[in-house]
Amino acid sequence: MPYSLAMIPGDGIGPEVTSAARQVLEAAGLDCTWQEVAAGQVALETQGNPLPPDTLAAVRAADATLKGPTTTAAGKGFRSVNVAIRQQLCLYANFRPARSLPGIVTRYQDVDLIVIRENTEGLYSGLEHTVVPGVVESLRIITAQASERIARFAFQTAVRQNRHRVTCVHKANILKLSDGLFLDSCRKVAAEFPRIDFDDCIVDAAAMKLVTDPQAFDVLVMENLFGDILSDLTSGLVGGLGVAPSANVGDGVAVFEAVHGSAPDIAGQGLANPTALILSGVLMLRYLREQEAADRVAAAVHSVLAAGKIRTGDLGGTSTTSEFAAAVIEAL
Ligand code: ATP
Repeated sequence: MPYSLAMIPGDGIGPEVTSAARQVLEAAGLDCTWQEVAAGQVALETQGNPLPPDTLAAVRAADATLKGPTTTAAGKGFRSVNVAIRQQLCLYANFRPARSLPGIVTRYQDVDLIVIRENTEGLYSGLEHTVVPGVVESLRIITAQASERIARFAFQTAVRQNRHRVTCVHKANILKLSDGLFLDSCRKVAAEFPRIDFDDCIVDAAAMKLVTDPQAFDVLVMENLFGDILSDLTSGLVGGLGVAPSANVGDGVAVFEAVHGSAPDIAGQGLANPTALILSGVLMLRYLREQEAADRVAAAVHSVLAAGKIRTGDLGGTSTTSEFAAAVIEAL
């Protein structure tokens, strides 16, 4: 039976990179049907709702979803569509690997770590209000249930991927109750996985150590905001936002998207690097247990990057989004 996949082209560079990734996945022989649904600014303009109920239903029903970035204006307008999708479909785990890529020269050549970000609560709970004019309050929700759930996901990932250590990143020295609970939850779950080492690191120290000694880390688990910030940092360690994939996973529902946003500054010009979304497609293939196709697409991307002739501007080249996708298809 072909896989039933949903696709959200999204805003900005979204349509360009989703089209490139779809062509690569089809060239790899993935037997699937695609249902294209709208979200973000484009859905607001065409349907009056940035996250139409039909879109949520299609994502829920699909075997997996490939998603382009959706725009959220700072400080005004509708709530983040990304946050809403994650919360409404309970996609509680955000999986963001950062691995050095062949041919991409950065300060380090041997980074191989995974950031696992809690995706449903923390400061992204959306509970903000004005107390009196000039004073606002944002609630940072941390629950034992969600913290233990994400910790278990991190340890299960470590076991599945033959990793050795899980590090809880937190600020429990200052946020004694909320991050104290997150750290305690991680410690409790760690006891269920005696073969995986466990330690913890304060978030500011983790930021410094990630820049100076990223090889010191293996699997990192953290709450929502810390994960948002540190995963952009870890993208920078391996070549930037143009090459950083991610997966949002819940129970029986999964959405695969690049770490980057809609990059309006380069939208519609064929300048976007589709690598991040193609590698998100590789994560999707692994989720669907299509390991052989996943290995082939990853190898094709690596060979194009290693050859270095076809590269988009963010990696110092002059190739277009579709030229890069065509080179990957050729390599396949
Ligand atoms: P968001 O708030 O949605 O996370 P952001 O403010 O972090 O978005 P992005 O859109 O992710 O911003 O990107 C920041 C900049 O990085 C862009 O303006 C663009 O120049 C560059 N960039 C991001 N993604 C890509 C890509 N796939 N290819 C090339 N450049 C990119």
